[in-house]
Amino acid sequence: MIKIAANTSGLIHDLIARASKITTVSHTHPDGDAIGSSVAMVCWLRSLGKDAVCAFPDSIGANLEFIFPEEIRLSRLVYDEAPKETSERLGDSDLIICLDFNAFNRTEGMADALASSKAAKILIDHHLNPDESAFDVCVSETGISSASELAYYVLMTMPETGGDAGRLPSESANALMAGMTTDTNNFANSTYPSTLQMASELLQAGVDRDAIVAEINWCYGENRLRLIGCALKDLMSITPDGVSYIVLDAGTLKKYGVMEGDTEGLVNMPLAIKGVRMSIMLKQDNGYFRVSVRSKKGTSANTLAREYFNGGGHELAAGGKLFFPKDIATPEEAPAYIEKVTREYFANEA
Ligand code: 5GP
Ligand code: MN
Repeated sequence: MIKIAANTSGLIHDLIARASKITTVSHTHPDGDAIGSSVAMVCWLRSLGKDAVCAFPDSIGANLEFIFPEEIRLSRLVYDEAPKETSERLGDSDLIICLDFNAFNRTEGMADALASSKAAKILIDHHLNPDESAFDVCVSETGISSASELAYYVLMTMPETGGDAGRLPSESANALMAGMTTDTNNFANSTYPSTLQMASELLQAGVDRDAIVAEINWCYGENRLRLIGCALKDLMSITPDGVSYIVLDAGTLKKYGVMEGDTEGLVNMPLAIKGVRMSIMLKQDNGYFRVSVRSKKGTSANTLAREYFNGGGHELAAGGKLFFPKDIATPEEAPAYIEKVTREYFANEA
């Protein structure tokens, strides 16, 4: 079970008590866990009377907007949309709480403003290899479902909650449930005893999980399902090593009007095939592909993402980027690159 050390909890409590202006920060292309943990923390801090806002490097997918209570949404900062204001806020903050990422470079354009801010910095994260030197307090656990779960257990050690989830603001409780539910793919992955305990305590505290699950699963546009149909039927390849891959090029993204969030979960689907050990999805962006990697136990998505896709993440769920013309001359070479590097990866493993 997850245990937050008393001295760590005490340090966090002191830093919060001494700060008046507090900003949370999370990673690029914020997912449900990044948003859920940030929103939960900001709602909690506001309940203590703090001037607290969330900051994100770039825009929020429409499918995840439901996690934001109105007043948190209106005050949030998005670096790509307001770089000056966001940098100033980081510079003026007394305390910055970093959630769901392990090193400043995961915030891309915001990284310099984050590094140069004189604010005290707390990390609450569940990725491998945290950059501990960059933070005053580092709460990093990998045997946990999500940053939201870790934030929950940190909040439970605060004297104001005294370990009672019923004393969290309801907005925080909802956001934590949403973050944990998305990161576990609704309890399909990374579900630990502590995860179910948290879920149970939050349900007990009155969280409406059915409403959250409906927001997560039932509110997409028709285009998402059409795209998934096309991807699985026409775009998925499977190599002799049991690696499935799907390349969503610019033409496909345009044809289906793909927006942030529309491809969520697609990379997991090929793992349904018995012989598939690893699934890779590429999504074209400006000068690079965003890469998502998922694997079954015994195969490391993290190692593949680190070695061949300029990235990393968790053992079984990782991501990165494939640049052109740096890594491949043109986008059309992506399938050949995947075939080559995965062959190499499994040959080295053998
Ligand atoms: P996703 O495929 O859902 O975008 O990302 C899966 C996991 O990989 C997440 O935990 C995410 O933090 C991590 N990840 C995604 N992209 C990158 C990246 O560019 N660099 C690193 N280090 N991790 C990434
Ligand atoms: Mn996460």
